[in-house]
Amino acid sequence: MKSILTGLADVIFPGRCVTCGVVLGPDKTLHFCHTCFSRINFIQSPLCNRCGIPFNSPDGGDHICGDCLTSETYFSVARAVGRYETTILDAIHRFKYGGKIAIGEILGRLMADFAYPAFDIQEYSLIIPAPLHPKRLRERGFNQSLILALAVSKRFSLALDFTTLKRRIHTKPQVSLGGKERKVNVQGAFEVSEEKKIRGKSIVLVDDVYTTGSTVNECARVLTKSKAAEVAVLTLARALQPDSRSDISDQR
Ligand SMILES: [Zn+2]
Ligand SMILES: [Zn+2]
Repeated sequence: MKSILTGLADVIFPGRCVTCGVVLGPDKTLHFCHTCFSRINFIQSPLCNRCGIPFNSPDGGDHICGDCLTSETYFSVARAVGRYETTILDAIHRFKYGGKIAIGEILGRLMADFAYPAFDIQEYSLIIPAPLHPKRLRERGFNQSLILALAVSKRFSLALDFTTLKRRIHTKPQVSLGGKERKVNVQGAFEVSEEKKIRGKSIVLVDDVYTTGSTVNECARVLTKSKAAEVAVLTLARALQPDSRSDISDQR
């Protein structure tokens, strides 16, 4: 009986590729068609040990990038699943701006399953999603980072806290701003409501996209001020900005 119902459900709701919508085969663990999956640029070594930006040159292995050498970073490490382009970009847009929460749950599982170079989620004690301002939350109806963080917290049985770190200032969307403006835009935007919930914790801060790192770095600064033992950053996507990021291995 169950198999008849499952079979019926497959006819009525066939699995479709998250990004292009093509009907998928009977394997329910797949969410992307072969073409869309093959377009995902997964982030691998060599990369910056700290911010996780991948280097184009395979020489030199993992090392600290020029930007991390010269700028103040409050997180210990940042890692991402894939580059913010093609399939990942499409999927994030459908999820975040198209309100497709089911896609967010699939992307969250992708984040939870990915083998990050030199980063082990199990070493941490608390997961915190990058918060939205209440006004933005009302507009969107959900916090995309919370949907992603939920999947990671579930997979690793880690505590999730989405109330202590708050966004107190409704800033301009970062997407409209350049590198320096982004940093200024988020300054003082976050606060911790109860320091005792943060003190001594090793935190994985989850966000959807890492662009210049301004948002997650400001969150990490506030969490560190509240005596977090460590803050690591995990994002689904990594936007690459060749103009603003420098790779010392490429400068040689
Ligand atoms: Zn597809
Ligand atoms: Zn770096």
